[in-house]
Amino acid sequence: MSADSTPEQKLKSGEKSKLTESYSGVAHELADYAEETKAFVLGNSTKLNTVAEEEWPVLPPGITREVFTEAIDELASLLGEDNVEINENPTLEDGWYLEHPNTHDSFHLMDGDYFVSSAAVYPGSVEDVQTVVKWANKWKIPLYSISLGRNFGYGGAAPRLRGSMVVDLGRRMNRILSLNDKDYTCLVEPGVTYFRLYEEIQKNDYGMWIDPPDIGGGSLVGNALERGVGYTPYGDHWGFHCGLEVVLANGEIYRTGMGAMSNSNAWQVFPYGFGPHLDGLFSQSNFGIVTKMGFNLFPDPKGYSSHAITFDREEDFGAIIEVIREIRVRNISGNVGQLNSAKGELTFRHTRELLGVKGKFMTKEEVEQAAKTKLKHGPYAWIFFLSLYGPDEVRAHSWKTIQEMMSGITGVHFYTEDDYKDGEPDNFHIHHDSSRGIPQFIGVRQSCWYPNGAHSDFTPISPITAKDAGQLLDLVYRMQEKHQLDSFPNFVVGVRELHMIDFIMYDKKDPEMRKRAQEMLRDLIQEGKKLGYGEYRTHLALQDQVMSTYDFNDNIHRRFCELLKDAIDPNGILSPGKSGIWPKNLRGKGWEFTA
Ligand code: ADP
Repeated sequence: MSADSTPEQKLKSGEKSKLTESYSGVAHELADYAEETKAFVLGNSTKLNTVAEEEWPVLPPGITREVFTEAIDELASLLGEDNVEINENPTLEDGWYLEHPNTHDSFHLMDGDYFVSSAAVYPGSVEDVQTVVKWANKWKIPLYSISLGRNFGYGGAAPRLRGSMVVDLGRRMNRILSLNDKDYTCLVEPGVTYFRLYEEIQKNDYGMWIDPPDIGGGSLVGNALERGVGYTPYGDHWGFHCGLEVVLANGEIYRTGMGAMSNSNAWQVFPYGFGPHLDGLFSQSNFGIVTKMGFNLFPDPKGYSSHAITFDREEDFGAIIEVIREIRVRNISGNVGQLNSAKGELTFRHTRELLGVKGKFMTKEEVEQAAKTKLKHGPYAWIFFLSLYGPDEVRAHSWKTIQEMMSGITGVHFYTEDDYKDGEPDNFHIHHDSSRGIPQFIGVRQSCWYPNGAHSDFTPISPITAKDAGQLLDLVYRMQEKHQLDSFPNFVVGVRELHMIDFIMYDKKDPEMRKRAQEMLRDLIQEGKKLGYGEYRTHLALQDQVMSTYDFNDNIHRRFCELLKDAIDPNGILSPGKSGIWPKNLRGKGWEFTA
C-alpha cells in the first residue's frame, strides 16, 4: 500500500494494525473493540492532508538547517539515535485516537501543516529529561512536552510554536511507581494511561477506583495538568493530585509539597508541605516538565448505583439547573454529574449521515424528530446522569430525596439501572461505568459526526444558576445559526460550578468548514467574555485569545506569568506560547493569534 493512500483505502487493504506492537496505553482487553472503533474512525477519513510546498522538517524560528542538524546529531549521541526522530513526514498522517501522530495536530483547526514539530525526542528517565533541557538551552531550541499527546480536541501532540521539538515523555516513561492500597494513592510517570492504571488495580485486586475522563487513553499526568474532569467523586483531576516532580528550565529537579523533604514518606498524602504551595505553577503553563505526579484514589465505596433523569421540555432548562445546584452543593448526589442535551446524546452512536441531516446544521426540529426514535426513553430535551455511593440505605434515601427535589418540574422521568437492562448498549452504560472508575472508549466515535470528523470545544465556566446556564445556552444556539455549524452543548456539574462543554464539530479536510469552526469558536470566546464567562481549557490556536479575556488590571495574570517565565526560563525553551505565555524573545513578534 503506497504512502499516499487514504486511511480508508489502507483499511480496505487489510493493512496490519500496530495497536499491539507499539506502546499506546490501550487496555489489552479492549483490543478487539479498539480495532472495531479504528475501522469506524478510519472509514470516516476520506482525504489526506494537503501540505504546502516547504522544506522539511519545519525548523524553530531563528535556527538554520546547519545548526539544527548539528544540534540533532549531538542529542542523538547523548540519548541514542533511536530516541530522536526528525519530522520529515510531509504527508502528516492523522492516524486515529490510539495511533495518534506526535508530529502535528490530527484534529487541525488551522491548516494541517501549521502546528507541526521539527522533531521528537523520547527520554527514558528523569536524567534524560535533564539532558534534553540542558541541550535545548545550549542550542536555543524550543521544546514542547507531552505525556501521551492525545489531548483530544485541544491540539493533540502538536507544539504551540511551529518547529519546536516535542518531548514525548509517555513513550518510554510509563511506569506506575507506587500504588498504595492503605492510603489509596499512586505515583505515576507521564505515560501511565487510565487504562493502564485500571488494569494494574484489577490485576492486584486492590479495593480502589480511579477517575477516568470521557476517554481512557490519555495520561493521568497530561489530563490533570490540563485540569480535565471525570465522573466519580474524585472528578476534579487537578484537585486530587498530590505531589509533583518537575524538571525546571535550568535542568534542576524540583519536588513540590512534602516531596521537598528528601526523606518524607508523606508526599502523596499531604499536598502542601511548608512555605509557598507552588504546584499551580506547573498546570496549564510552560514553567517546567512534569516527570512524576501523585494522585489520591477513591476507596471502593462498597455500594454504587447510577441513575438517569430525563426532562421532556427544553423550556424547563432553568428550573432543572436550579435543582441540580442544590443536589450537588449539598452533596446529595455523590459525583460530578452530566447534564446532556438530546443533540449531544445523539452523537455517541450516530453520524449526520445516519440521521439523514440535510442542511448545514441539525435544526431543533430535526433533533426532536431523531430523539423520538434514536434515544432510549426518548424523546427528551435533556438528560441528567448522576451516581450514588455507599450503603444501600444511604443511596436509597438520597435517590428518594433527589426525586422529591425534582418533582416540581413538568415532564421529569426517573430511571435506574433496571430500566436500561434490555436492549442495545446506551450512553447510560457508559456513564454507569465511568462513574465507577472504568475507563471508556466510545467517545472516540463522537467526533465522526462529519466525514474526516474533528471537534474542538467551547468550555466556559459559570456558577450553577438558571441565569448563567441560560445565557450560555442562548449564546451557543445563536452562534450555531450565525455560523451554520453543528455544536453539542453538554454541562459537567462540579460542586459549585458548571463546565459547559460545547462540542464544535467540523470536517477537518474541508477548509471552508474548518474556517467556520474557528470563527465560531473565536466568536464564542469573545461573546462569552462580554457576558463574563471565561474558558477553562482551549485549543492551541485559541490560547492567546482566551488568555486575553482574563483581563483584570490590564491583563496582570498574563503579565505576571511573563515575569515568571522570563526569570525562570530566560532562553524561552519550555513550550513557548503555551496558554498564551510567550517568552521575551518571541513575545510580540507575530506568533500570537488574537481575536
Ligand atoms: P494526554 O496524555 O491526555 O494525551 P497530553 O500529553 O497531550 O495529554 O497533555 C496535554 C497538554 O498538557 C500538553 O499539550 C502539554 O501542554 C501539557 N503537558 C502534558 N504532559 C506534560 C508534562 N509531563 N509536563 C509539562 N506539560 C505537560
